[in-house]
Amino acid sequence: MNKLWNVSRKTDLETAFDDVFVHEENEAQTVDGSGFPYAQDMSSDGGVFKHLLDDDERVNDEMNKALGCGKTALGLEGVQTLKRYYKFIYCYRWFCRECGSKGGRIHKKRMSGILRKIEGALESQEKEIVDKFDLRQFVFTLPVQWRERFLSRKAINSFYRMVERIIKEEFPSKPSIIYFHPFGDRQRGFYHPHMNVHILEEKGQRLQIEPVQLERIKAKFYRALVSYGCRKEELGLNDVRSGINYMNVHYSFQTRPGMKYHRLKYMSRPNPGYLNYDAVKKDPVLKALFLGSVKDKGMSGFMYVRYFNGFRGGLKDIDRKEEIREAENSAGERLRVARDRDGHIMYKKKSEINLLYREKELEELSEGFFRVVEIKRKKGRLKRGKDSRQVSGIYQTS
Ligand SMILES: [Zn+2]
Repeated sequence: MNKLWNVSRKTDLETAFDDVFVHEENEAQTVDGSGFPYAQDMSSDGGVFKHLLDDDERVNDEMNKALGCGKTALGLEGVQTLKRYYKFIYCYRWFCRECGSKGGRIHKKRMSGILRKIEGALESQEKEIVDKFDLRQFVFTLPVQWRERFLSRKAINSFYRMVERIIKEEFPSKPSIIYFHPFGDRQRGFYHPHMNVHILEEKGQRLQIEPVQLERIKAKFYRALVSYGCRKEELGLNDVRSGINYMNVHYSFQTRPGMKYHRLKYMSRPNPGYLNYDAVKKDPVLKALFLGSVKDKGMSGFMYVRYFNGFRGGLKDIDRKEEIREAENSAGERLRVARDRDGHIMYKKKSEINLLYREKELEELSEGFFRVVEIKRKKGRLKRGKDSRQVSGIYQTS
């Protein structure tokens, strides 16, 4: 048993963030009377039992997280000041209406992450950071005939690496971003995997590329796909040249600040996003890939936005560590989980918090993150004084 608990090396705080949704589910189950007997005891590690769920239960479990998104706050406590905080926890699932829509939480998070990365790469913190570079853009699209080979996380990672290698060769040491989009804009359930590339170019460089360079890039893409196992015959073609001509690589560039910003924003939107959910759920293959299955976690936790060439790493849509860091930054101190007198973690609904505090007593530090401020009121002081007299009175008589 103890081993199970150690499976995740998450901190108390991270676990408490995730367990908000387990708490939500348990609450719902208590209401309709269908609660699992172990739910109460195991609530601090919902992940351990994941493997016992079948595919539909898994999808439901994920959906419950989206349905519980932003409904429950976790009580936190300042390590130094012992001040009380409440943080509403969001699910950051792509199929959540609030998190996975265009302009929703995931999109905002990706966009601010990208701008921060660019500031880092250009060593500039100027407000109009998009003025500081020009933007090259490539879109690498898989031929329809080969798409079925790219229906796994592993294959999509390979696709990613092919494109990364080509860009590294062609544009060495230019900070670049790759965004994976599995769907186009129009057909929400039609698998159309493409890698979008943004390359940050110094201002004043020639941005047009020679046809010969685009040809070379297409040839590299073709050869990478063939050595991955894609067969020319599947394209219905016979000679090599025609295979290269069949490659769909689109190049464009942008110098106007507003348009550059727009392009970064367009590429970083969640895809799949909330709009794709109905179509994805109807297709068994796409459902298993994007929502996970018993056999395979599929794309859950996949980094859709990644950096290279001077940038490092990628951007996780669900990053509890990062959320905790941000909360600590806006609180200005280290935080820990707050517990009630019985040692239970404090999970509170908005309605409960509203009963506990007046509006003035809650200071919103960032979206859904509140600090309880003590308001000095004459009445309050009097009341407190009265209480303590009562308490001491009890002690005196006993
Ligand atoms: Zn959500």
